[in-house]
Amino acid sequence: MAEEITEEIEETPTETFDVNYACLRCGTSVSNTELSRLPEIKCICGFRVFTKVRPPVVKTVKAI
Ligand SMILES: [Zn+2]
Repeated sequence: MAEEITEEIEETPTETFDVNYACLRCGTSVSNTELSRLPEIKCICGFRVFTKVRPPVVKTVKAI
């Protein structure tokens, strides 16, 4: 009697979202990874308000 082991593999996207933020005052873009490294979310200019910047979606298409 063979037991059939079916493993459910969840396809979780492992892509790291590198969200970019732009400072509202000077417009300097900072990635969220850079921000997480900082002790506090703050721009180099001292401003603390950022807007989320969506990076342009780059689609890689395989040439057939
Ligand atoms: Zn700034």
